Amino acid sequence: MKSRYFMGGILALALGWGIAQPLVHARQGGAVAIDPLVERDRQIEAEIKNNNELASNLEYLSDVIGPRLTGSVNLDQASHWTQKRFTDYGLSNVHLEPWNVTHSWARGTAQARILSPMAHPITIASAAWAPNTNGAISGPVVYMKVDKIEDLEQYRGKVKGAVVITSAPFDFNAPENPMLTPYGDEIVPINLPKKASGPRNNPRLYQAVFAFLKHEGVAAALLSSDKPYGLLNMFGIGGPMYFEGQTPLAIIGWEDYNLIWRLMKKGPVQLEVNIAGNAFSEQPVQVYNTVAEIKGSSKPDEVVIIGAHLDSWDLGTGATDNGTGSAAVMEAARALAKSGLEPRRTIRFILFTGEEQGLCGSHAYVTAHKDEMGKISGVLVHDTGTSRVISIGMMGFFEDREVMEKVVAPMKDLGLLEPSLRSLNGSDHNSFDAVGVPGFWAIQDVGDYPKTHHSQADTFDRVKPDELMQGAQVLATWAYNVAQLPEMLPRKKATADAAAPVGPPVRK
Ligand SMILES: [Zn+2]
Repeated sequence: MKSRYFMGGILALALGWGIAQPLVHARQGGAVAIDPLVERDRQIEAEIKNNNELASNLEYLSDVIGPRLTGSVNLDQASHWTQKRFTDYGLSNVHLEPWNVTHSWARGTAQARILSPMAHPITIASAAWAPNTNGAISGPVVYMKVDKIEDLEQYRGKVKGAVVITSAPFDFNAPENPMLTPYGDEIVPINLPKKASGPRNNPRLYQAVFAFLKHEGVAAALLSSDKPYGLLNMFGIGGPMYFEGQTPLAIIGWEDYNLIWRLMKKGPVQLEVNIAGNAFSEQPVQVYNTVAEIKGSSKPDEVVIIGAHLDSWDLGTGATDNGTGSAAVMEAARALAKSGLEPRRTIRFILFTGEEQGLCGSHAYVTAHKDEMGKISGVLVHDTGTSRVISIGMMGFFEDREVMEKVVAPMKDLGLLEPSLRSLNGSDHNSFDAVGVPGFWAIQDVGDYPKTHHSQADTFDRVKPDELMQGAQVLATWAYNVAQLPEMLPRKKATADAAAPVGPPVRK
């Protein structure tokens, strides 16, 4: 089916980039000589195909260690486990780089039900870093329509003890705002909602609303999940973004939210909400980015980075967000180390933390290594699930289009499309992009990622081992090929002194 979302512009650009480097580039006395880079890429790919530890590592990370909220005991365990894994694989300079979160947070229990005009249990989970309700509270549901701070005044004195909602239901039939997957020359729209109305996509407004809710004595606030079939999309303002004075906040099922909304049109709706046992650390908590390297043979001070985030939300087990990316980075490290190839530049492997709280770990990394940013050739991050990598997303680095074409040409057997100038906001490559380092993202087939990520269904069941293996092959060969280039990747002008964390209420 031809879609109206055909990415004509990007493909047209790609076609204009010139003919890709031929894989077989010379004939010598009748024999066909294979490009040595192709040969080495095939060697790396074969090591991953034949001996990969993707599934066993990912199953351990997901099922045995479990979900990895930033600041949690699980994440600490995961960080130390990845450090040991990299060491076992023979990487060099393996270490943990610490940074601090204001408070860790541990989940308790949450229950809710409609008391009237009918009785019905609702699917609920406390937002992360949210406080408990004052026991089992019951109160009327009040919709506060707040598009700007001044809108709050009309609710002053009217919401004490209420259960507040601040947005109209999501519309799942919104063809103008689908998440798109580039597959061949088609872009297939999938069913994703319009952006929620209300304050959650505006950090300043969000904080003003929460200060108001607290001041007015609201009992609890509820957000609709933006996923169907009872799946919840976890959210919460934690890590360095945490602010005091949040009202108990929970996410409820999309269908339940709609039911409440319909009932409210007919008359008052009474809810009971009980959030208990959520616990904060008293003190700031040290967390880590895991770092490992293969030292460059001739340009060791110039660095190519591949990365993913080790932290996750906690409703599922963080298998695909971003256990898959973490396992792919670890596998690329294992295979490159095992291959014995000596890349010209240093290849660095980083597992960031605090990504879900606003790219905090990668921001901390970029800040701590500010003086070294000029020596980082490029970064590639794998963070959109388990499906195969389709292309390299270059974040509008127009300057890199020709060289990136050469980088991926020897990898054509992995089925990549031409490099794309597409951007993705909301993962760790943004922290590098913001300081002018070519920070790229692996464009992946979407699969069911938008349904499952951040939800209770983000579990090891969702992992597609063969597609993830291709992802690890792309990371490893991309890193190697970039490390072998005659020059570092071309830069674009820096847009900020340091990477700004993405605002907390944006739910990626
Ligand atoms: Zn992620």
